[in-house]
Amino acid sequence: MTENAKGFFGPFGGQFVPEPLIAALNDVDAAFQACKTDEVFQAEFARLLQEVVGRPSPLYFAKRLTEQVGGAKIYLKREDLNHTGAHKINNTLAQAMLAKAMGKTHLIAETGAGQHGVATATAAALMGLECSIYQGAEDVRRQKLNVFRMELLGAKVVPVTIGQQTLSEAIDVAIGAWIEDLDRSFYLLGSVCGPHPYPEMVMYFQGIIGREARAQILEKEGRLPDLLIAAVGGGSNAGGLFKPMIDDADVKIIGVEAGGRGDDLGDNAAALTFGKEGVLHGAKSYVLQDEAGETVPPHSISAGLDYPAVGPEHAYWKDTGRVKYTTISDHEALDAFGLLCRTEGIIPALESAHAVAEAIRTAPTMGKDEIIIVNLSGRGDKDCAEVARLAEAGV
Ligand SMILES: *Cc1c(COP(=O)(O)O)cnc(C)c1O
Repeated sequence: MTENAKGFFGPFGGQFVPEPLIAALNDVDAAFQACKTDEVFQAEFARLLQEVVGRPSPLYFAKRLTEQVGGAKIYLKREDLNHTGAHKINNTLAQAMLAKAMGKTHLIAETGAGQHGVATATAAALMGLECSIYQGAEDVRRQKLNVFRMELLGAKVVPVTIGQQTLSEAIDVAIGAWIEDLDRSFYLLGSVCGPHPYPEMVMYFQGIIGREARAQILEKEGRLPDLLIAAVGGGSNAGGLFKPMIDDADVKIIGVEAGGRGDDLGDNAAALTFGKEGVLHGAKSYVLQDEAGETVPPHSISAGLDYPAVGPEHAYWKDTGRVKYTTISDHEALDAFGLLCRTEGIIPALESAHAVAEAIRTAPTMGKDEIIIVNLSGRGDKDCAEVARLAEAGV
């Protein structure tokens, strides 16, 4: 492993990767930096966000939820209304455009539950690129519908059979496959994780969420919000909302990690709360690890939060104190899921239900004239079968 000096947020981030990847990452970085000032790229990206994703996503005042909970006004940033049902498509379309600009013909991506895989396969179909999605064999079994979706969209789903056969191993194998096929392939990473430039790049593309929310709340309320809340898995929907308001000192920010079924290692997915500094998947950050430094398999009711590390910029925001990170348990997330269904007619993703739960906990401690924006990162159709199963099992 070689440590390259680029892409650090304080002590976190970097490029802890095998030597052959450094040049490939530098090529991705060069294409990414160039796209920022490329008017043709930006105009095409803006068109896709509007015509394919359906942006801007509404900033919705949740009136009945606010009345039920009491205290601050709760607004929801409706990423659940995006094409494919979550925020992930914002990033996959942009990176697929970069792949094309670099002359690549094949997208490689990892997926856990399959949401990033579906969003990547969608972008590949739209742009006429080949697509291989690496998914742990255990997840392939658990997430049959998303596997079928990816295949419908023309992607090849490659089951990964090493270790726990879940997301962490899928990333290792997918990066290995990229090293074998660098000429033709582009690695399309799904969150603000991995080696530089991915954390910076995914944060930049997901920043559309916070830029829109900032303008929308100024339009609706004539001022900035008092508090932002979002769920943190790898950290891309949260970072996308937070980053454009990170320099607005009066805006408080809370990131919500998956507290799972308890505080012991293996019972949660809260890397910032219970993890230690370490290197995983090419970057230094907080990682859930045992005494020997072995990565501990995480647990969360929500597959999208089930990752043992977190994006390096969040680690930096935690250490500088700019963002406060809390946990919400499986049970609290399920309660919030149900309450949002009944008060607003919105079935949220279980990931997003963690953010809603934090708003339910915090709003009553705030004044009625104060404002919270919650990132509703995705819709919950994908989770209904699991919620029904848990209800039947009496969880
Ligand atoms: C994947 C996913 C997440 C977690 O990923 P982040 O990178 O932390 O945003 C959250 N919500 C939904 C709906 C997801 O699909």
